[in-house]
Amino acid sequence: MEYIEQAMLRAEKSNCKHDTMFLQALREVLDTIEPLIKKHPEYVHENIIDRIMVPNRGIHFKIEWMDDDNIIHVNNGYRIQFNNALGPYKGGVRFHPSVNPDVLKFLAFEQIFKNAITGLHIGGAKGGADFDPKGKSDKEIMKFCQAFMSSFYNSIGADIDILGGDIGVGAREVGYIFGQYKQLTNSYDSIITSKPLPLGGSLGRTEATGYGLIYFTQTLLEDIGETLKGKICTISGSGNVAIHAIEKLYELGAIPVTCSDSKGAIHDSNGIDLELLKKIKLERRASLEYYTLERKKAIYVKRENYTEGCSFVWDIPCFAAFPCATQNELGESSAQLLIDNDVKIVAEGANMPTTPQAIDLFVKNKILFAPAKAANAGGVAVSVLEMSQNSSLNYLSFEKVDKRLHDIMSNIYIELKKTCDEYNLDMDLISAANILGFKRVADAMIMQGV
Ligand code: NAP
Repeated sequence: MEYIEQAMLRAEKSNCKHDTMFLQALREVLDTIEPLIKKHPEYVHENIIDRIMVPNRGIHFKIEWMDDDNIIHVNNGYRIQFNNALGPYKGGVRFHPSVNPDVLKFLAFEQIFKNAITGLHIGGAKGGADFDPKGKSDKEIMKFCQAFMSSFYNSIGADIDILGGDIGVGAREVGYIFGQYKQLTNSYDSIITSKPLPLGGSLGRTEATGYGLIYFTQTLLEDIGETLKGKICTISGSGNVAIHAIEKLYELGAIPVTCSDSKGAIHDSNGIDLELLKKIKLERRASLEYYTLERKKAIYVKRENYTEGCSFVWDIPCFAAFPCATQNELGESSAQLLIDNDVKIVAEGANMPTTPQAIDLFVKNKILFAPAKAANAGGVAVSVLEMSQNSSLNYLSFEKVDKRLHDIMSNIYIELKKTCDEYNLDMDLISAANILGFKRVADAMIMQGV
């Protein structure tokens, strides 16, 4: 469609022409919303695509901090406040050496639609720093988090922009960031979620993204008369999302047999030993290579020995595959292997973990595909429950939060199915998620004027 193609061309020629991740995320959305734009010509008159694809605001700041040997380091910090048509900006903070404005722009753009799909009143944002928490002492982490917050605390607020966790930012980092905000502003405002419980965190938030991913998959499978019980599942990653996805898979009687980290991957055909995995990754913060010291029959493959283009995890035949590590981790050859091995469903726990070529293959081969915007929305949904508990000073039990999470994920699936029916999309949940999210944001923007 002319309007969509022209908008994409404008983005490719604009000052973000080198932002390859962002352009990939933008193209993925624009490639699927043609039926929506055709049905709503007012979006063309309102030039809504151009208005959605440019962030409201991007902040780039310097972070100076001193390590335990009193050596001074400098890192780059960013916050992309992309869109607040539906509510205050909301999105996680990532600490990883790969963080740059392009990565955060793609993540913030995805976050807008993910947040919209939940039906909750939150806008989309993302932030972070090119800081590597690995190998740093607890004191160094604290000093970095304090310097990070000091550099941009005046750009956020409980009704303006609320931060959260992401890669490299767990309860420890969230606690330090929150503490520094309190110190600087003399307020206990809820400017960050995924807080430790004593600081006003919500029960069930730690588990929410991984559990939500499996609840979404479970609802989808039930709808087509299938179940996860007794099924072999492969998972990549071994962080917050992967660990809790594995935990919920076990509760539903599935057999999760893989996990991975940035250095290598594990295949344990008897099922991943969850307690051992938690001990290695959450307590010791160590590499997965230690897993086979205690589980002799499991196989560990180092990253440098992966089959070309594949990440070992996807070599293992499975019923369901859950990429839960990072962006673009599941490419074309991995997708082909999964298809050859009769995978039934792929559900994204990480943000944009599947490359466009791999997605095309899954779609062509009619593999059920649950896109991240819908499938991993459980984390942000429970973050909003955390915000509402903080403001009402009422705290929900784990069971209540978990039930709300289950309902929210099932409801997201129901809404996507309705969208599929309305636009004749069969089971194309990627298009449905983009259309549903885009429409909610576009309508709110139009109501608020130019
Ligand atoms: P995390 O706890 O920091 O774990 C990330 C995992 O991915 C770790 O196992 C890490 O390995 C691995 N990893 C990182 N970079 C990698 C690479 N280039 N290749 C292979 N493995 C790599 O992060 P998380 O919270 O689980 O987040 C994982 C994904 O889910 C991200 O895409 C994030 O944006 C998305 N997500 C998270 C949430 C949430 O609530 N946490 C919500 C929505 C979406 P190492 O242990 O070696 O570092």
